[in-house]
Amino acid sequence: MALPRARPEEELQGAPAGLAVARPRLPPAEAILPYLQRIDGARWYSNFGPLLTELEGRLAERLRPGTHVLTVSNATQALTLALQAMDLPPGGYVILPAWTFVATAHAIVQAGLKPWFVDVDPQSWMLDPGAAIALSADLKREACAVIPVCAFGALPDLARWRAFREQTGVPVLIDAAAAFDTLADARLPAVVSLHATKALGLGEGGYLATEDAALASRVRQLTTFGFKGSRESLVTATNAKLSEYTAAVGLAALDAWPADRLRWRRAAQHLRIALVGQPMVTFQEGWGTDWVTSVCTVGLPPGSAARVAASLAADGVDTRQWWGGGCHASRAFADCRREPLPVTAALAASTLGLPFSIDMDEEAIARLAAALDRALSGAS
Ligand SMILES: *Cc1c(COP(=O)(O)O)cnc(C)c1O
Repeated sequence: MALPRARPEEELQGAPAGLAVARPRLPPAEAILPYLQRIDGARWYSNFGPLLTELEGRLAERLRPGTHVLTVSNATQALTLALQAMDLPPGGYVILPAWTFVATAHAIVQAGLKPWFVDVDPQSWMLDPGAAIALSADLKREACAVIPVCAFGALPDLARWRAFREQTGVPVLIDAAAAFDTLADARLPAVVSLHATKALGLGEGGYLATEDAALASRVRQLTTFGFKGSRESLVTATNAKLSEYTAAVGLAALDAWPADRLRWRRAAQHLRIALVGQPMVTFQEGWGTDWVTSVCTVGLPPGSAARVAASLAADGVDTRQWWGGGCHASRAFADCRREPLPVTAALAASTLGLPFSIDMDEEAIARLAAALDRALSGAS
């Protein structure tokens, strides 16, 4: 994803550089070097080498004992392969929230299934298990799986989703792409992204976490040509492995995580304090205090997001509708089945991704706060 920096025309006019919506920061070269030297020594470059094995082990330690972690080339591919490994009826409907990134729906289609867009809860911005049950008297006949999505890193009520799975028999796969920090429990299989724009960035990468050993084994097989213990392809599959080089970045990123997590929290809390006098801007519950994520998506007065974005842009402040008008609104998914989506439409018109980064400084925060004050004065 291209992340725009200062607009060239502003630099020409000597105006202060624009505030970018994101400025990812991955481990610096010197932190990765010791791991690269281990690769040189081992002469093992891919196919589940020692660094990748160590990375998966360290990621699994963050979850409940007995959890399997399988790295995949990216989270979109991990979602696709997890759906394939779940043995769902070809062409079956998979329920997903309309308020998500397009990757969730792409993964469903790539797995040979059909997206079925459902509206989200206005408070949590996430799919509600009760609403999913209410959809159809015979949900089991109509939907073969459900993918709740962690909104920008927030965690849904996993206990209620486990109860949903027990009650309906419908399999649940969590799109926890942005929830690296919050996900501590993979009793429901969950996929996390390690993309550069997420909290723990490796460039490209992702993983499936699950306590289901059979599912883990099938997904692993799908990432490596259908091999399992021999070089015979037992099932049709793909190649979605991570190389030792990506694992090197991942290990360096994990080394830095405790300190980086504090940096994310500090930046978030400074931003919250700077906007304390601006009650029209609301944060996700627990954002930057209970949990951290790499983006700052705020709530604004109903219908005001486009106008606020335009006003901020005029002040050199970049913003992003991270999920556009909702996943369902993309042309690629125009023909997909959908329920009425008023909450998603309202969120698309009243939420905005503000500039945010791990090392956002006081000056940038003050500038953002002042620009927001100007944008919102006389609003609503
Ligand atoms: C980032 C993201 C993805 C895609 O992750 P990749 O690793 O880039 O494939 C999927 N779903 C959601 C909700 C995301 O935020």
